[in-house]
Amino acid sequence: MTLRLFNTLSRAVEPFAPLAPPRVTLYTCGPTVWNYAHIGNFRTFVFEDVLRRYLEYIGYEVLHVMNLTDVDDRTINAASAAGVPLAVHTRPFTQAFFEDSGYLRILPAHHYPAATAFVPQMVALVSRLLEKGVAYQGDDGSVYFAIDRFPAYGRLSRVEMRELKAGARVSSDEYAKEDARDFVLWKAARPEDEAVGAAWDAPFGRGRPGWHLECSAMSQHYLGDTIDIHAGGVDLIFPHHEDEIAQSEAATGEPFARFWLHGEFLLVEGTKMSKRYGNFLTARDLREDGWDAAAVRYLLGQTHYRKQLNFADDALKAAATGASRLAEFRGRLASLGGESSGEAWRALEERLVRDFGTAMDDDLDVARAIAAIMDFVRDGNRLLDAEAGLAEAGRGRVLSTFDRLTGVLQIVPSGMGTAGDLDTWAHDLARQRAAYRREKEWAKADEVRKLLLEKGFDVRDTKDGGYELRRVTRAPSAT
Ligand code: AMP
Ligand code: ZN
Repeated sequence: MTLRLFNTLSRAVEPFAPLAPPRVTLYTCGPTVWNYAHIGNFRTFVFEDVLRRYLEYIGYEVLHVMNLTDVDDRTINAASAAGVPLAVHTRPFTQAFFEDSGYLRILPAHHYPAATAFVPQMVALVSRLLEKGVAYQGDDGSVYFAIDRFPAYGRLSRVEMRELKAGARVSSDEYAKEDARDFVLWKAARPEDEAVGAAWDAPFGRGRPGWHLECSAMSQHYLGDTIDIHAGGVDLIFPHHEDEIAQSEAATGEPFARFWLHGEFLLVEGTKMSKRYGNFLTARDLREDGWDAAAVRYLLGQTHYRKQLNFADDALKAAATGASRLAEFRGRLASLGGESSGEAWRALEERLVRDFGTAMDDDLDVARAIAAIMDFVRDGNRLLDAEAGLAEAGRGRVLSTFDRLTGVLQIVPSGMGTAGDLDTWAHDLARQRAAYRREKEWAKADEVRKLLLEKGFDVRDTKDGGYELRRVTRAPSAT
């Protein structure tokens, strides 16, 4: 099986292969650090994290770059409103973004270029576009990209040129706008920009880069002219990604990105979660409410990344229950240890690996992959319950397979193996041992006793045929 991904460029699911295997170059548009990222933003970042982890799972070496947009209309407006320099305003939100990404178990990108650190590269790119004659300086001093000099404009978003307002120039880089004819590359400095330190010198006049330009320059700096995968939320298709393509391809003459992947929106009560609608929830809100990141990721995984997801508390509660079932099962499996696994386990494991791979290869069908894991948990629990399951030697390999697969999705709560889960496991086992004793299966009963001791539990029999379980600080037979 090969991985197949929906490519927005062709509007089709295509087999994926990188240009220079085993390396995959991945560029994902990062947060605009004018405020906290909301969980809609994080839906996109988690989808990208699953993409990256799955690419690594199937053997690719991913080089991942995510930019930080720390200069654009929104950051400048927010810094102005707060009356502080741009960098002072964006720093805590950048920090918060890293903390929240950590909480949501998102793998760090290999590079997080901040736009303000790459202004020379952006200036060079604008100069190149001016030299090639696809850009021009307007009477307002800003530099614009002339889309009628780039015939491929509109190929990604499929906007019709005639739908764009002829002659309209878009100097704003806020992205919820309707048209994008001749979008801005470099914005002439205004007093408000100077006031917050958002202005740089350039041969074509003092100003600051347009938002779209930032990604073209930083992606090229780290990943070269052509990248394997470029990803973001659907709202970036137009104009952001369309404009990135125009800038990059007009400058280099090479295809900019081979695969374009876009994640759908997260909604709240049917409306796009957005700071501008005031209906946003941040990752830190979820953390403060005590939600394990695994539950959040389990919830996000229930809906395919190309479908809209309506965020609801009930669904999060259900996801938390699903995630804790995984943790409980993992606890049971881990406690039994061992090196090899028996036939029944091997069959379950093979089915799991196959179904998980088939689902993920099918344009990252995470919901189906989770279903495969849950089937495994159900049948695995049955095996563990059954005497035959217990008697079989070791589940070490099964456990590592389970960890590898759930690791791609990060859906097992981190609390697993903690006292609570271990206690449940120990009581289950002690009950099992009492049953063995009643049936005079002394050898099996002894085996269980040893296992419990290794995990720090001392089991004593009581006169009424029951048991007493005590924790011992150091397992006498282990070490
Ligand atoms: P921004 O910080 O606004 O530049 O957005 C960062 C990322 O979040 C981009 O990839 C956006 O497409 C994505 N995004 C913004 N709003 C949502 C939403 N409600 N649901 C999913 N993704 C979103
Ligand atoms: Zn971008």
